[in-house]
Amino acid sequence: MAYATTNPFTNEQIKVFPNSTDAEINTALDAAHSAFLSWRTTSFAERAKVMQNAADILRANIDDYSKLLTLEMGKIFAEAKAETELSAAIFEYYAKNAEKLLVPQDLPVASKDEGRAKVIHQPLGVLLAVEPWNFPFYQVARIIAPQLSAGNTVVLKHASNVPQCAAAMDELMIKAGLPKGAFQNLYPTHDQVSRILADHRVRGLALTGSEGAGARLASEAGQALKKCTMELGGADAFIVLEDADLEKTVNWAVFGRHWNAGQVCVSSKRLIVVDGVYDEFVKRYREGVSKLKMGDPMDPATTLAPLSSQKAADDLKKQVEGAVAAGAKAEEIPLEMPNQGAFFRPVILTNLKDDNPAMREEFFGPVTLLFRVKDEAEAIRVANDSPYGLGGSVFTKDEARGERVAEQIETGMVYINHPTMVKADLPFGGVLRSGFGRELIDLGIKEFVNHKLIDVVDIDAPF
Ligand code: NAP
Repeated sequence: MAYATTNPFTNEQIKVFPNSTDAEINTALDAAHSAFLSWRTTSFAERAKVMQNAADILRANIDDYSKLLTLEMGKIFAEAKAETELSAAIFEYYAKNAEKLLVPQDLPVASKDEGRAKVIHQPLGVLLAVEPWNFPFYQVARIIAPQLSAGNTVVLKHASNVPQCAAAMDELMIKAGLPKGAFQNLYPTHDQVSRILADHRVRGLALTGSEGAGARLASEAGQALKKCTMELGGADAFIVLEDADLEKTVNWAVFGRHWNAGQVCVSSKRLIVVDGVYDEFVKRYREGVSKLKMGDPMDPATTLAPLSSQKAADDLKKQVEGAVAAGAKAEEIPLEMPNQGAFFRPVILTNLKDDNPAMREEFFGPVTLLFRVKDEAEAIRVANDSPYGLGGSVFTKDEARGERVAEQIETGMVYINHPTMVKADLPFGGVLRSGFGRELIDLGIKEFVNHKLIDVVDIDAPF
């Protein structure tokens, strides 16, 4: 697919970007490798300055950066500003914490014959980052802030519909003072991505995207015996127990399913409501969704943005039709819809039986899968009946109960009384078909380092 900016609010193609040539890619990998040779020994203090500069530049120009997000993938401008600020917070987090997070670790050995043992954390080299369009800055910040702070260098393959956001991140890091070559955006084809991954100068892959892309590129990384992290799709459960604060829970459910037009890996995609409050909850949820307003994502009154492209809207429609053909009941919420742009009216799907393919799919847009369950135990069973394992939430006034339920949900993140959150100082990642590895905090910065043992042993120590 060609790299191009197409405004999802108008469906107008604004600019097309040519693919990188093989020669450009080769030059970029050379530059990334030679930048690594000096960047790996650059002090944490120097690297921190660059990260802090990146944060400061994003904040000082927040409107300009955020407009690019809205232009290329259609998100509401207020959400675009929140994303830009979150990206700045991630750069700042690593400016402040990278050195502490990678401090060498003295090992408590059983006998002094084992020597003075420590583990140090050294960068691996050039990494390939493959990123999705749904958070064009945040996803990139989430990988480059920790990895550059650790001393790695990065080449980026961003999604083909956000080429200007990708270029803006490249320019941002140059303005922030990053040495030439240490972070570069490319516009490769999928075949070129495979060749970059196989190249001897590249030491690892961090991919955020769909299950399909993850499965393919993880297998290529496996063939090349390169470390990879996979941040893939999700079908987060949003469990409502009978003792939940219904009014606030409904508000969070409407928000959790519809922010970023429902195109979040951790959107609250499956609402699981216990019998005792089901009817009242669903009535209020329907009312809440009916109040959403579709429109220009730059207009502050808009609360439901267009999808990222017309193709995304068309594909989602087909996916809903597939669910209905397999027995689901679809209720479309009759919102007024602009007569242009990649808009999609919210849909609530019920009567979802085990053999419906929808039970195993991710709906990337404002489609709610709704389940009535008998009690807490059944809620947990339904929540775990998914190939995905990313996030999830439990709503109850009893926090201890919420924690007990959370412990039984097979995902990487569970929130009590909140949809899955994204913050600079909380880890992110999943299990099962949602992938492996973690991003952010110490877990993220330690994904692509060599945890090297150095042991100083007395020459007379026994073997
Ligand atoms: P996608 O189609 O998998 O694309 C993600 C990235 O992978 C894009 O840069 C894409 O490039 C590239 N790509 C896809 N197939 C490729 C191939 N065969 N070879 C090389 N590169 C390939 O996903 P998306 O539609 O952009 O993003 C939505 C998905 O990302 C959802 O499933 C969502 O849940 C997931 N996601 C997960 C997280 C997380 O942290 N777990 C966060 C955000 C999103 P092209 O654009 O050129 O195809």
